[in-house]
Amino acid sequence: MPRTLSDLCVHTITTKPWSLETAVEKYAVAGIRGISVWQDAAEAVGFARAGRILADSPLEVVSYVRGGFFPHSSAEKRARALDDNRRLIDEAATIGAPLLVLVCGAEPQQSLSESRRQIQAGIESLIDHASDQNVRLAIEPLHPMYADTRSAINSLGQANDMTESIDHPQVGIAVDVYHLWWDDQLEGEILRCGNHDNLYAFHICDWKVPTTDMLLDRGLMGEGCIDVPLIRSWVQAAGFRGYHEVEIFSNEYWALDQDVFLDRITEAYRNHS
Ligand code: ZN
Repeated sequence: MPRTLSDLCVHTITTKPWSLETAVEKYAVAGIRGISVWQDAAEAVGFARAGRILADSPLEVVSYVRGGFFPHSSAEKRARALDDNRRLIDEAATIGAPLLVLVCGAEPQQSLSESRRQIQAGIESLIDHASDQNVRLAIEPLHPMYADTRSAINSLGQANDMTESIDHPQVGIAVDVYHLWWDDQLEGEILRCGNHDNLYAFHICDWKVPTTDMLLDRGLMGEGCIDVPLIRSWVQAAGFRGYHEVEIFSNEYWALDQDVFLDRITEAYRNHS
């Protein structure tokens, strides 16, 4: 049975050639209910105006992307990263986003465990500001291929460990099938995440075979080797009732007519997610 679009959210990076205004208009016409916003899309129109465009639309703002990048070997750079994140939290609040997704970062000059220690310290020091602004934070574990510079948190187990250690309702997790599909512990870790009320976001796309670019060649659901419906069933069994966010970074799709691409997104969502 094809799915309805009631839980569908599209991330603006997915239709990168469109301005925020165009994306909002096109998503709404297509029957999409949720929107996640990449910083560049909001910055291009100005944050206050982005907030008004979104507030005037029928779409619900799901998340703002992305904060993080906490680890550095220099204390000065770590402090600067915290300032950047405080500003991102303010921007999220300005555009009406209840959640800031964190790409946590990694510093190749130090161990992954030291980077994780710095990530946790960084997130903990943002909690008060995030609470004041009513913006929650979501740790997004990234595929291990990004462990050099993008994230020292590479499995849901590691993200669960950290989130449970932080133990604060302001901090949870974004589960992205692209980053986590390979993990033989995934079902249990998704349940664990839900049981601790830490499952804040769910991102979908597919892993193309072969993948020609490790960042910019993501596929539409049903196009690759990820069993998205199976992972969705685990997320729902874990109690998740939020939006399913289509997040596709793809040079190939950005080169397409974006109206055609949006039709393909809703079709893939109905039939393969
Ligand atoms: Zn994601």
